[in-house]
Amino acid sequence: MFGAMSAPKGTNLTWHVGEVDKDARAAAHGHRGAVLWFTGLSGSGKSTIGHRVERMLVDRGAFAYVLDGDNIRHGLNSDLGFSPEDREENIRRIGEVSRLFADAGALVVSAFISPYRTDRDRIRGLMGEGEFVEVFVDTPLEICEARDPKGLYKKARAGEISNFTGLDAPYEAPQNPEVHLLTAGLSVDEAAAQVVRYLEEQNILGDS
Ligand code: ADP
Repeated sequence: MFGAMSAPKGTNLTWHVGEVDKDARAAAHGHRGAVLWFTGLSGSGKSTIGHRVERMLVDRGAFAYVLDGDNIRHGLNSDLGFSPEDREENIRRIGEVSRLFADAGALVVSAFISPYRTDRDRIRGLMGEGEFVEVFVDTPLEICEARDPKGLYKKARAGEISNFTGLDAPYEAPQNPEVHLLTAGLSVDEAAAQVVRYLEEQNILGDS
């Protein structure tokens, strides 16, 4: 069952308990559900490494799925911008969606900058023990800026984007991530393999 829930505005709501529980879902999928929460600066490699993790997991028969920043902002969160309030709501909704996917039995790769520690910890608090795997994609700002895969740092430096994480908006690094990827010394494959190894060590992958 879910942990702490935010209070709904609606009344006369009841939580319907289904016939299929977590263990039954895990047995059907061959592994448990979990949220792999990738956090790091823009251009740090969350999306690239996250997709490689998804590839590796699906190749071994797992039910894995990437929730990626820009895709969600095009759909579910198209009404939100980059103010602190909107960033918080962005991450809150993504956390709820991640939780639903994990409850459905998926290994959810959530790849979002998610710069605020309290926002990430709130999502951790929604999940059961061992179901939230924080993956810190730790790439120095200088390297992210040199890569600049989407040209965003250039725009931010030119004053075309404000509230840009790492420049004029803060990034609060995880203090105790389950997986700490120092990407400067790793290939994408090596970084992804480090995440998969953690899941194996924690027996999250089961037989898959
Ligand atoms: P984010 O999702 O964190 O904004 P992206 O994955 O979109 O970052 O961009 C990271 C860029 O860095 C990609 O162009 C990727 O090919 C490149 N890159 C170079 N080396 C690495 C590495 N070791 N790990 C991850 N990405 C790397």
